[in-house]
Amino acid sequence: MVEEASNKQVILKDYVKGFPKESDLILKTSIVKLKIPNQCSNDAVLVKNLYLSCDPYMRGRMAKTEGSYIDSFTPGSTITGYGVAKIVDSSNPDLKKGDLIWGLTGWEEYSLIKLTQGLFKIQNADLPLSYYTGILGMPGHTAYIGFYEICSPKKGEYVFVSAASGAVGQLVGQFAKLFGCYVVGSAGSKDKNKFGFDDAFNYKEEPNLDAALKRYFPNGIDIYFENVGGKMFDAVLLNMRVNGRIAVCGMISQYNLENPEEGTRNLLCLITKRIRMEGFLVFDHYGLYPKFLEMVVPLVKQGKITYVEDVAQGLENAPNALVGLFSGRNVGKQVVVVASE
Ligand code: NAP
Repeated sequence: MVEEASNKQVILKDYVKGFPKESDLILKTSIVKLKIPNQCSNDAVLVKNLYLSCDPYMRGRMAKTEGSYIDSFTPGSTITGYGVAKIVDSSNPDLKKGDLIWGLTGWEEYSLIKLTQGLFKIQNADLPLSYYTGILGMPGHTAYIGFYEICSPKKGEYVFVSAASGAVGQLVGQFAKLFGCYVVGSAGSKDKNKFGFDDAFNYKEEPNLDAALKRYFPNGIDIYFENVGGKMFDAVLLNMRVNGRIAVCGMISQYNLENPEEGTRNLLCLITKRIRMEGFLVFDHYGLYPKFLEMVVPLVKQGKITYVEDVAQGLENAPNALVGLFSGRNVGKQVVVVASE
């Protein structure tokens, strides 16, 4: 007899328009067999999910989109996202029962992953496993690629990072500080500024973002790590220095708008200030993941980085945690604990 378990799952009710609500996601419980079905390839794993990552890009997958870099979720089905999991059964000789992995999995207690290509085997299991949803996983690698590879930083440069207390932003700012840059972050609350940057401000309290940036960067900005888009992006353009760089990582202020009202007015600055602006997707850069780990694991072990997580307990709290990203409810990386090992 194959062992079975009950499997709580988070299902997308229907495609979402505007701001996502907790009720757009519903919980269902089914029964799962704890063995890979015979018809699966020799590259499948059945995993027990331990931690799930709430990420802003998941909003795009909740809408019906075509031609995006990643598919929409299917209404009526379990949503997927990054997570940390333990292997329960495997048909891949390189991944054994008991191994820990991180990568794309289901928002459920147990998932059958039919292709293991995008999974990473966890080597440093002495660090908190939830860190593989953040500092040691996709968001950490995003911060690393965006700052070191896209921004081409130089010591002493002026760096501005938006969404500065989130999963990516808190790390970009700290990488930049460790590198010897002057760093200012913006976030939506004073309580969020915990990361030892040179300065920080609450963008919600600034009626004039251009004036605020002039106050924090009287000499201008060399590097802007863009996480939010919209009005902030436009104000930053006015404050960039000649030969500045902008890494376009995300534009969360735009993700829930059906008809973006604000156009960008200051793009001419790209020419007059000879700014290099580059969008990037972390998925294209996983070849550098081992190099990133070589840098970041010692920093974590030596306590040279402050890493803040916002932890929701249980799959039943996962919908609320995910939609909270879009009102800035999370303080630090938003994680969901599905099970302790
Ligand atoms: P996060 O910062 O942990 O969470 C999102 C934060 O965005 C919220 O806490 C909120 O903080 C802020 N926010 C929400 N709505 C906003 C708005 N309308 N205007 C300004 N800020 C708003 O998320 P993350 O995982 O670190 O992601 C940060 C950005 O990086 C996102 O844009 C994401 O899409 C992008 N990203 C891109 C890649 C890539 O490969 N290019 C990979 C990962 C992430 P406040 O309190 O500050 O408002």
